[in-house]
Amino acid sequence: MAAAWPSFLRGGAFLRNRAAVMRQDSLWAHAFRPLARRLGLEDAWILSFCGYNNRRVRNAFGGHRARRVLILLPHCIQMARCKAGILDELEACYDCGLCPVGDYMNAALLNRWEGRIFNRSHKAYRDAREYRPDLIVAVSCTDRLLKGLTKLPEIPSYVIPLALPHGMCVDTDFNVPHLLAAMESLVEPRRPHGEVQPLRREGIA
Ligand code: SF4
Repeated sequence: MAAAWPSFLRGGAFLRNRAAVMRQDSLWAHAFRPLARRLGLEDAWILSFCGYNNRRVRNAFGGHRARRVLILLPHCIQMARCKAGILDELEACYDCGLCPVGDYMNAALLNRWEGRIFNRSHKAYRDAREYRPDLIVAVSCTDRLLKGLTKLPEIPSYVIPLALPHGMCVDTDFNVPHLLAAMESLVEPRRPHGEVQPLRREGIA
């Protein structure tokens, strides 16, 4: 059954056949998307696909956690009027609390996570391919999450949807505790022994 229908593969078999599984599943996700849109359920359809994907990723990394992990975040989580140059350097954030970047930065520094903030999807895909992670943890809008799962079928990806309180691509938000919980359960800890002080800069956004 699993040979005929890769979607049924779980755990190590899912990881070994990842590209075939995702190519087949993406076909279904895209095939039913127009119908879901007509019914007003497009987001719900993509989110259920993302949830299904995440359950398989959790299952696959339940026994042995990922060691080489890349976090991908969209630039629109930064407050639009903030001038901190976080695209070039995450530590440029002043941690003023007005957007989720500060909380993410502190967790990333404390835990030595490898992460990138992107303003273009194709740069994120290129970087991910070059970095060759065991696992991607990605935050984005539902459309881009589905696109990312489709474009990078060879890399297991745990995906977290953005909240869009101000519409697309402006002052978006995401659940930082959800990211922390995913990293805790899926990823081998890299936190060094001893106290590490998160970076705090003087100033405001
Ligand atoms: S300085 Fe404030 S608004 Fe700017 S990225 Fe950091 S937390 Fe967000």
